[in-house]
Amino acid sequence: MPLLKADNLSKIYGSKRTASHQALSHFHLNVEPGEFIGIMGPSGSGKTTLLNLLSTIDKPTSGKVIINGTSITSLSKNKLAAFRLREMGFVFQDFNLLPTLTVKENILLPLTLEKCKISEMKKRLEHVAKILSLDSFLHKRIHEISGGQMQRAAIARAVIHEPAVIFADEPTGNLDSASSLQVMQTLQMLHEKKTYDTHGYTRSICR
Ligand code: ADP
Ligand code: MG
Repeated sequence: MPLLKADNLSKIYGSKRTASHQALSHFHLNVEPGEFIGIMGPSGSGKTTLLNLLSTIDKPTSGKVIINGTSITSLSKNKLAAFRLREMGFVFQDFNLLPTLTVKENILLPLTLEKCKISEMKKRLEHVAKILSLDSFLHKRIHEISGGQMQRAAIARAVIHEPAVIFADEPTGNLDSASSLQVMQTLQMLHEKKTYDTHGYTRSICR
């Protein structure tokens, strides 16, 4: 069974009164567990639109998004929010880190929201900090670190709760070429390592 399935997705922005725009037309996609997929297209071709539909941030005009066999259009708002929090990790072009928090606090946010035990948070933070080489700036605030460091922190935040799927929208869009390479290598390394599967966490502790 695919982890994620887009079934005949279309998205039309606007309404009958305003000018409408078809951003996505009859789109199909199957993502199997363990796949690493990149979607390319020029600016305005609908990549962000697709990602927003797949990640349940926005609703399609027609068609279905099915995750782990569940059609997400059938879930209530609360269930959807819980599902997003637990099973998805997000990496954005502009990082979306909270500026008043430290790097460490930002990374721990998904676990804080899940009311995870402090000891478990500590264990996971140590592990992720080591893998992503974050130790030297964990206690800094966001404005004190570089763009590349911000994106590594954002990646740490996207994986610390072991989501079923990670979505990244132009994660290197605001980075220089050296940092871009590092961010892509980091994502690839995490994918190859299947970090948490081999680390022996019990998935239920934070659940
Ligand atoms: P990409 O991420 O590939 O650059 P987008 O998905 O952002 O493309 O946009 C696809 C098209 O949909 C563009 O023409 C854009 O102007 C339009 N669009 C995106 N978001 C909205 C919106 N909220 N309202 C109206 N039009 C939108
Ligand atoms: Mg975009």
